[in-house]
Amino acid sequence: MGKRHEVALIPGDGIGPEVIGAAVRVIEAAGADIEWREGVLGAVALEKFGSPVPQYVLDLIRETKVALKGPVTTPIGTGFTSANVTLRKSLELYASLRPVRNLPSIRSCYAGIDLVVVRENTEGLYSGIEHEVTPGVVESLKIITEKASTRISEFAFRYATENRRQKITVVHKANIMKMSDGLFLECARRVASKYPDIEYEEMIVDSTCMQLVMNPYRFDVLLMENLYGDILSELCSGLVGGVAVVPGANLGDEMAVFEAVHGSAPDRAGTGTANPLGVILSSVLMLRHLGENKAADRIDKAIASVLTEGRTLTPDLGGTATTDEMADAIAGAAAAVETADKRG
Ligand code: NAD
Repeated sequence: MGKRHEVALIPGDGIGPEVIGAAVRVIEAAGADIEWREGVLGAVALEKFGSPVPQYVLDLIRETKVALKGPVTTPIGTGFTSANVTLRKSLELYASLRPVRNLPSIRSCYAGIDLVVVRENTEGLYSGIEHEVTPGVVESLKIITEKASTRISEFAFRYATENRRQKITVVHKANIMKMSDGLFLECARRVASKYPDIEYEEMIVDSTCMQLVMNPYRFDVLLMENLYGDILSELCSGLVGGVAVVPGANLGDEMAVFEAVHGSAPDRAGTGTANPLGVILSSVLMLRHLGENKAADRIDKAIASVLTEGRTLTPDLGGTATTDEMADAIAGAAAAVETADKRG
């Protein structure tokens, strides 16, 4: 008999294959019935298939509708366009969702943080439209459309309603970028008027950064365009212990790609010191998306028990465990919860 779900698996590069391998072991130990179909992106794909985002990977995700992805390195200054940006644009994965919460025993500046960053994923300055006007002068275009701004605003308000969130803060710089951020705000206001039960506020991006550091508890859902979302979601991860412990999802109407907030961490690749939690937590989001709530609950419980016990943690969390050792501890705990579930 075939497996219950087919999921595209993109290990990525740098620490990607290590943390993705760890997540797959945990998902299988939790009893989720998944057939993995592997694809490659980035430099490896460029060398093998002549493109950092080969057509077969786009077709694969269009077919499976769901993917679990590791980080992919983007060359700085020169070289190919980010495979991540191309993938999100090509598959219309217009909403980036990053829930930011404290986890047991992970040291951080704050406790009790529970906020969500919703980022527009397909345009803004990440449209990648740049050119040299004349030697010494370059132009980078920020594209904001009514369609994409309305679509992401509707996503955020729907998400807030379905997840019993109270407030949405729209982050902008419309005092300076009056037309582009002005249009984003206009669309958000129009959508907000249809959701009177959700508190709505607007805040300038620089002030938001200060407020997030001074009093993060005043925020619930943060909604913003692409670049602010990229920067602020990393700032938010810093409130709860850093990029290695925050999950993420790139969502469209048809497809979903789940990946951690962190990058390929070339400084850690091959050292066995990468923290697998970001990808494992992203897998939990994926399992809930697939309706595999029991497996997701088992992994949540397993993570809580391994963190609370505090014996098998990677170096960034103050321990000495390797990526594999931490993953095995979580997988073991998830399998134990599954066995207990089966015994009833
Ligand atoms: P990074 O997130 O890779 O690393 C930042 C810091 O966090 C480093 O010190 C790294 O060691 C640490 N870190 C990251 N993940 C960790 C983990 N799981 N466990 C322990 N420590 C971890 O960010 P960067 O250095 O700015 O980017 C490296 C590359 O990744 C770049 O090419 C960038 O374009 C790419 N990137 C890819 C994605 C993606 O594929 N979605 C996201 C962000 C960055």
